[in-house]
Amino acid sequence: MEKYISILRDLIQFESVNDGEDEVAKYIANLFEGYDNVETEIIPSYPSRSNVIVKLKGSEKGKVFAISGHLDVVAAGEGWTYPPFEGVVEDGKMYGRGTADMKAGVAAGIYALLDLIEEKKDFPGEIWFIGTVGEEMGMQGALDLVEGGYLKDVDAIITPEPTKRDGENQGIFASKGSIMYAVHAEGKAAHSSMPEIGVNAITAIADFIQKVQKKFDEVTANKDFQNKELGSTLNVFSIMEGGIQINSVPDKAFVKGNIRTVPEFGSEQSIGILEKAIEENNRDESRAKLSLELIQVLDPAEAQKDNDLIRALKEAAFDKNVQIRPLIGTCELSRFIHISNDVQLLVYGPGLTKEAHVVDEYIELDEYVDTIRIFKDTAIKFLKM
Ligand SMILES: [Zn+2]
Repeated sequence: MEKYISILRDLIQFESVNDGEDEVAKYIANLFEGYDNVETEIIPSYPSRSNVIVKLKGSEKGKVFAISGHLDVVAAGEGWTYPPFEGVVEDGKMYGRGTADMKAGVAAGIYALLDLIEEKKDFPGEIWFIGTVGEEMGMQGALDLVEGGYLKDVDAIITPEPTKRDGENQGIFASKGSIMYAVHAEGKAAHSSMPEIGVNAITAIADFIQKVQKKFDEVTANKDFQNKELGSTLNVFSIMEGGIQINSVPDKAFVKGNIRTVPEFGSEQSIGILEKAIEENNRDESRAKLSLELIQVLDPAEAQKDNDLIRALKEAAFDKNVQIRPLIGTCELSRFIHISNDVQLLVYGPGLTKEAHVVDEYIELDEYVDTIRIFKDTAIKFLKM
């Protein structure tokens, strides 16, 4: 147990709150310096925010198995009993921001590689550790790695988000997408006693909301667009604002919304509904002009529910009651699904799902150490299949 504490504690002590993953990436690359069969690469996404890839090469050519975790955490917030960035150990648990989500998963991946090096384990192919930036806000790191072609040779990825629940551990194979957007209306101000010389931005937004919500309600109800694991695509208008004075025709207004998508009605089709309604509005010159701002687009993802990766993990985690399930939230599956048509993906990690982002977040150290064994066994089993 003691052997596996130091790197985890070091990781917790990096305050990589939506920034500063650079330092974490360099720290990880340093751990693997001096080994002939290891290559490391640092890949920046933003200034001071870099991804890292560590490649452990086997004795002969073969498949590529990867463990990929994000290096960022969310802000600690107030009200902690334990210092959030120290890694205090008490009664078999380590406390700190990111212990569950997901630096224990990251440390388990790193130790899996280090153990295999130390044990001089013989295997075909390659085992990678991938550290990504900015998962909690936009998942830019994973996007950059996929779009930059860095992951094109990867056959399988395990992402150790906290997936443990009471009495079981989940293997997540599918996740919904999420589109966050704003629609802005630009009209013309006028005194409310003479509205005919103004152009009302609020009424344009109100019409837009009515039309678009009706369309999405039809999509949500349409059986052809339902995914049997993830449910339906749906839209929620969540913020709106417009006007500054009660006796003026408002020249500006906006509405923001969030569409949660499934593969049967994904990002492109959903954005299409917004664009079409905007275009129809803008054809009428007398109306306030609408424009679309896409704040974040995460695609829905549905990987295979049964394949070598899942079989290997289930064998390795024989004592964890692994249940293969979909996720109604979002995760980096949204990015990794675009690596290739046959990439095998699974989200599985040691933390409790309920411990993500909470005050006094912790990891159960037994679970964490078991995960190192599980990652080593899964990697070797997968590469030999
Ligand atoms: Zn996470």
